[in-house]
Amino acid sequence: MLPDLPIDTAHMLIDGTWCPAQSTLPLTNPSSGEVLCQIARGRAEDVDAAVRSAEQARDGDWGRTTAVDRGRILTRLGQLVLEHTELLTTLEALDVGKPISQARADALALARYCEFYGGAADKVHGQTIPYLDGYTVYTLREPHGVTGHIVPWNYPMQIIGRSVGAALAMGNACVLKPAEDACLTALLFAYLATQAGLPAGALNVVPGLGAEAGAALSAHPGIQHLSFTGSVATGASVQIAAGANVVPVTLELGGKSPQIVFEDANLDDALPFLVNAGLQNAGQTCSASSRILVHTSRLEEVISAMAAAYRAKHIGAAMDDPDIGPLINARQKERVLAFLAKASDLPLIARAEPPEGPGFYVPASLYGPVSPDHPLAQQEIFGPVQVIIPFEDEAEAVEIANGTDYGLVASIWTENGARQMRLAKALRSGQVFINNYGAGGGVELPFGGTGKSGHGREKGFEALYGFSTLKTVAARHG
Ligand code: NAD
Repeated sequence: MLPDLPIDTAHMLIDGTWCPAQSTLPLTNPSSGEVLCQIARGRAEDVDAAVRSAEQARDGDWGRTTAVDRGRILTRLGQLVLEHTELLTTLEALDVGKPISQARADALALARYCEFYGGAADKVHGQTIPYLDGYTVYTLREPHGVTGHIVPWNYPMQIIGRSVGAALAMGNACVLKPAEDACLTALLFAYLATQAGLPAGALNVVPGLGAEAGAALSAHPGIQHLSFTGSVATGASVQIAAGANVVPVTLELGGKSPQIVFEDANLDDALPFLVNAGLQNAGQTCSASSRILVHTSRLEEVISAMAAAYRAKHIGAAMDDPDIGPLINARQKERVLAFLAKASDLPLIARAEPPEGPGFYVPASLYGPVSPDHPLAQQEIFGPVQVIIPFEDEAEAVEIANGTDYGLVASIWTENGARQMRLAKALRSGQVFINNYGAGGGVELPFGGTGKSGHGREKGFEALYGFSTLKTVAARHG
């Protein structure tokens, strides 16, 4: 059952008002398969109203709000998020099926995004440029105007924090389309934003189906920048729709991220990262490390250590705070089971078994040794599945690591400083970690991909440049 909420889950937030849609969609608890509540099924006309409201905010009070005051609102919002950590955590655990301690980490990350972007709002500025005699030239960093944010179900709080937080800091007015499978924390976040003093229209939330509300937002001519996180296929269609309006897009589309264990790796340090970076959020993480590349001299050791870690993992209902929760929905469960069926030719090293009964659970499965061109070593599975791939030398490790369509995150485990530097350059990846993976979430660290992992950067200061545009002013004064 849902806890008491200050909002109706079946409402949308448009122009500062909570309003019903024409119809609703059921929201399911992945841990039990039961319906939790109804959410709004926003349609094109709702998206249109939200965009109009954002345009008014852009041209009105919000557009005139100083950077200092935008920062204060975001900082207050961060404080409210902290005060509501437990409610946000419970909603995310029920809605996403995310183990409660992982959901709590996401709520705290949301607060950090608000704090970070609140503090950064008045620290982004243009430059003066030396030019011809008699000229003064400078640049102004300005918001795009109305930004669209299409968010998936796997990390709603973190992804809203990093995209909406940065967009608001720069003075954009936002229209947020959360995922149909998980939108409760988006609604509560928007409510807290109104409580923090965000004016009407600066943040609108239209839940609904991707093919309806999502497609309408991507194609809306009033949108001036789009941020999308999700699948490659949907990201490509969003980019095409935005392209028709010549609108810039940030795409964050997932990956097949490797960790590379060299002969001199400290395995005690590496082991928790090797396993947990693949199994966190049941593997439904864009930056999940689904490929473990291991030097042949350490293969047996890594296989036996990871096998023991897998056997100790407990899969269960999110509210019981297991190591691994369910997948988001029946469709994702079928998709992951289809991958496991394709793995019948692979050596299964270890498995953590799912509970009996309802809920969208799958076994956590570790395979190896696996050839780098096997579908399980090439395609994003988005489930608790990892493969171990052996290599003989550094050149082969780089070739395998770079040998997929993706390039989001990579990590190297070695004590050799020269090798660390060589690989940091050689790996085709938006982020490279040396003797760690993910650096604890890293609100401050620019994040994004190459290849089919997408383009553009969110998180850190870099996002503020993505959510703004540059104007050059050249004054001739003699
Ligand atoms: P999806 O890409 O279809 O959905 C992500 C978001 O896009 C949701 O808000 C959805 O409503 C919206 N959307 C869907 N169709 C749309 C359209 N035509 N126009 C605009 N918006 C649209 O992802 P999914 O179907 O939920 O999951 C399928 C696969 O996507 C997963 O198995 C996984 O591989 C990948 N995925 C990746 C991430 C990530 O963080 N990179 C997140 C979720 C899913």
